[in-house]
Amino acid sequence: MSDGGVVSTGSTTGGSHERIMAEAERIRSLGEAVEREARDPVNQPTINNWLEAMGNDNPRFRAGEAPPSMAQVWTMYGLGGRPPAEDPLHAMMGVLTDEGFTAVLGTNCEQSYDRYLRVGEQVRVTTALDSVVGPKQTAMGEGYFVTSRNTWYVDLPDGGSERVASMLFRVLKFRPGVSTSSTAGSEPAEEQFVLRPMKNRDTEFFWEGTSTGELRIQSCHACGSLRFPPGPACPDCGALDRGYVVASGRGTVFSYVVHRHPPVPGRELPILIGLIDLEEGVRMVGELVGIEAEEIEIGMPVSVDFRRIDDDLALPVWRRAQ
Ligand code: ZN
Repeated sequence: MSDGGVVSTGSTTGGSHERIMAEAERIRSLGEAVEREARDPVNQPTINNWLEAMGNDNPRFRAGEAPPSMAQVWTMYGLGGRPPAEDPLHAMMGVLTDEGFTAVLGTNCEQSYDRYLRVGEQVRVTTALDSVVGPKQTAMGEGYFVTSRNTWYVDLPDGGSERVASMLFRVLKFRPGVSTSSTAGSEPAEEQFVLRPMKNRDTEFFWEGTSTGELRIQSCHACGSLRFPPGPACPDCGALDRGYVVASGRGTVFSYVVHRHPPVPGRELPILIGLIDLEEGVRMVGELVGIEAEEIEIGMPVSVDFRRIDDDLALPVWRRAQ
């Protein structure tokens, strides 16, 4: 867990930086400034929908308890909900937007659970600003890392309250620039700006694959099961020994959304984002291309294609199968 704080890191952007850090200190000192009640008590129908979406069939969650990782679900704003102006994270984001750091990218999320929630409990959440660190030079451009802390509570009959979960959520709030790893000599036009996926030792094989025209699925060397997204351990047997198989590239549309907002750097909206069931049995998120929203049908066969961004990156996209 972070100790929090407001950390200035070297390079200054003059008065702008001073204002940002002064506001960060002020907002941080407000502590858990805003709280919000869950719209509904913890309830079985919402748990059932979540279990189905996550592919979780643990019987424990059909018997009066909720998965701890649903904490956030209970206190979602809902469609059209807006954070109050005094919300610490919202306020800090506003300060940075006003100073020209208009783009945002989620970087880390760390949740801690104190106990399982039970059906019928009424949850509330508080928000606090945990830390602001910057300015930092990143591949996305110059920016500040903003970490907020959400804490979920259940109120007790005796008037006290019990913490049930907390979450540190870090975003990079940055001044949109041009990707520093774009092909040498290319025009630094804004259209070429692209959000680059995070590559780490768990996901590197996947992006190496797309770069060579292969769609790779992580596999467990111990039990043979396939999984997506990639991760260090097998969710079925816990083994760390892992490899990959190359997918056929064929699948069907499980679901999709028409993404109209928020803006995506370098992209003209709307774009179509699909949840694709691969014939190997895993499900992936990907952009649907070459098709209009009205033409998409659930269950429609699709096949993978690769959109070459530059020498380092190709993104998988999905087209209607021939
Ligand atoms: Zn396994």
